[in-house]
Amino acid sequence: MNVLIIYAHPEPKSLNGSLKDFAVRHLERAGHTVQVSDLYAMNWKASLDAHDTSERHSAERFFASLESKHAFENGLQSEDIAREQDKLKWADAVILQFPLWWFSMPAIMKGWVERVYAYGLAYGVGEHSDARWGERYGEGRFAGKRAMLVVTTGGWESHYSARGINGPIDDVLFPIQHGVLYYPGFEVLPPFVVYRTSRVDDAKYAEVSAALGRRLDTLWTTAPIAFRPQNGGAYEIPALTLRDDLAPGQIGFAVHVEEAGVEAATQADEAAEA
Ligand SMILES: Cc1cc2nc3c(=O)[nH]c(=O)nc-3n(C[C@H](O)[C@H](O)[C@H](O)COP(=O)(O)OP(=O)(O)OC[C@H]3O[C@@H](n4cnc5c(N)ncnc54)[C@H](O)[C@@H]3O)c2cc1C
Repeated sequence: MNVLIIYAHPEPKSLNGSLKDFAVRHLERAGHTVQVSDLYAMNWKASLDAHDTSERHSAERFFASLESKHAFENGLQSEDIAREQDKLKWADAVILQFPLWWFSMPAIMKGWVERVYAYGLAYGVGEHSDARWGERYGEGRFAGKRAMLVVTTGGWESHYSARGINGPIDDVLFPIQHGVLYYPGFEVLPPFVVYRTSRVDDAKYAEVSAALGRRLDTLWTTAPIAFRPQNGGAYEIPALTLRDDLAPGQIGFAVHVEEAGVEAATQADEAAEA
């Protein structure tokens, strides 16, 4: 299988650097082919702007999404963007690895997403009608590919627990896992999170890398997070709100994940009644 690691840390000798090197070795030993986009080493340009295309669609006004569409459709994108898109097309699985910085990915990685995720590739795909609202959230160009976050945090696991001060880790990562990854079609695996990094020593590192190795061994078999597909009947279109009878009375990010057991049982009851 082809694995692409998008990696953002400025220091090769960091914990993230060690874990990235470990992941590459581990995957290659298992027979996979790995490419790494080491964003700091590549001196990746983080800001999306008018220099991202060799020929402007409109000279009067820079309209980010329309310029992206024009450049993507007509082969006018900067080479660095096109190269990353080729890697994405090549990959069967994509790993985004980063230290949590201000509750999100480092800016350089956000800039990778903004620039590489072109209109026509990651968004603006498919038809809009009464029954469908484009190909996104469960459909899209990256359907059939898997994705996983490898994240390190200074905060403790309890700080990111259900009632932890930082908010539950699934909520903190929701905009990345549901927005950046599920939106364009990836199947998103549960994240691999290393908490309280200041406490990592040789013994802890051995534990963490062994656990990461196990996750990499099951990259193809781990069940993805059961995000609800947009066009599968769970959402009213075009309002795109969750049907009232699903997760009744609940709000927040978690309603966009199917409740295993509960909904399967409800569907079985409905089928039996019908
Ligand atoms: C700008 C900024 C914003 C931040 N925002 C947040 C936030 O919002 N939430 C949050 O929780 N945290 C936050 N942090 C903390 C941040 O997430 C952690 O500093 C980061 O995850 C640590 O990863 P690292 O790779 O830089 O670790 P490092 O600092 O490189 O290493 C951590 C520990 O691992 C040890 N180590 C490294 N490699 C090995 C090895 N091979 N073998 C054995 N031991 C090793 C080191 O000795 C060190 O003790 C922020 C930090 C910064 C700088």
